[in-house]
Amino acid sequence: MTSNDSKPAHVSEAATLRAPRTKRRAVLLAGFGALLAGLLPGWPRRALSAERAVTGLRGPFSLVSGLGGNVLVRATAEGQTLVDSGAPGETRALVEALESLPGGGRVDTVINTHWHLDQIGGNETFGARGATIVAHEKTRFRLTHGYYLRDEDRYREPVPTAARPTETLRDRRTLELGGENVEIGYLIEAHTDGDVYVHFTDADIIAVGDAVSPLVDPELDWFGGGWLGGRVDSLARLLEIGDDATLYVPSYGPAVRRKDVAVEHEMMLTLFERTTELLRQGYSAAEMLDAGVMDDLARRFDDPGKFLYDVHQSLWAHHNKISHDIV
Ligand SMILES: [Zn+2]
Repeated sequence: MTSNDSKPAHVSEAATLRAPRTKRRAVLLAGFGALLAGLLPGWPRRALSAERAVTGLRGPFSLVSGLGGNVLVRATAEGQTLVDSGAPGETRALVEALESLPGGGRVDTVINTHWHLDQIGGNETFGARGATIVAHEKTRFRLTHGYYLRDEDRYREPVPTAARPTETLRDRRTLELGGENVEIGYLIEAHTDGDVYVHFTDADIIAVGDAVSPLVDPELDWFGGGWLGGRVDSLARLLEIGDDATLYVPSYGPAVRRKDVAVEHEMMLTLFERTTELLRQGYSAAEMLDAGVMDDLARRFDDPGKFLYDVHQSLWAHHNKISHDIV
């Protein structure tokens, strides 16, 4: 864990208070979304047709959606805290949305749930303006040193210095941001190798990034360190830290409740049990699909074959954690 003493300074002058404007924008991203889906592999395609909207949650919290992954905003007259910063190319629209909220767009802190592009697009803008950027150490490492894109057989360049996390954690870290207590915790290998949850404990809102995916097919970035076992464990961890009053905010889709996270956990556990058993018997992903491992689940997948392929790859990448007799 790195130093915990560098808290963002908050601007004290009063700002004009304006109430969050619920769903003030309802502009479909059709066409534009399809373009981005081609440029940014790994994006959930359905999510790109999400409406641009600013939705009030509870207290000073709002959700800005439709600009890449969801951006959770805590907006007060003293300043704003963001969890994630949207997609590249959407920062102007994000800034405009933030200017309509209390604090008028003065972002003190950005916390990244992980290192995917649809979470870090606005980092450079806010970092250059002096915001503290907080993320898991693995996220900092990937953004600082670049990483290999398997699908494109090339390396992604490091992000500009201003976009890099300036404060990191390895396991768990607590912060006090503008009077709100925040706990950030590692979700080991839930989706990538750098996932964290961000729990605003006073408001009881947990930003969960792509570790929970109620709207679009869950994505396992197996090449980026995610795997099915990590996802199961992370969902269990998220059930432990919330209760029936907790709002869970995923990267895509609306805020959900603990019971919804429980359904996803149960489904992933079922899939883990089914797929590890068949992996031991030497099944390929296609053979698993034919054998019906995706049948009778709590939800239907848009592309069960793709999900299962990623599951299969992720299990092989972690076969040493499954059992000693896998090979
Ligand atoms: Zn992601």
